[in-house]
Amino acid sequence: MPPAPLFDWHDSRHYDRTADKPCVLCGRPTPLRSDNGKPVHKVCAEQWTHTHTTT
Ligand SMILES: [Zn+2]
Repeated sequence: MPPAPLFDWHDSRHYDRTADKPCVLCGRPTPLRSDNGKPVHKVCAEQWTHTHTTT
């Protein structure tokens, strides 16, 4: 498994079990939250990070 450098997805802060909200990146429902509290899939966040950190 590759490391997840930005988010600790096992932290309960990143998981809202009470509600799924539309992912800000792909629009599909997700219970996951980013560090900023925005709904986002793990894979979407990782893809976004990869896209936006490559120079
Ligand atoms: Zn998504």
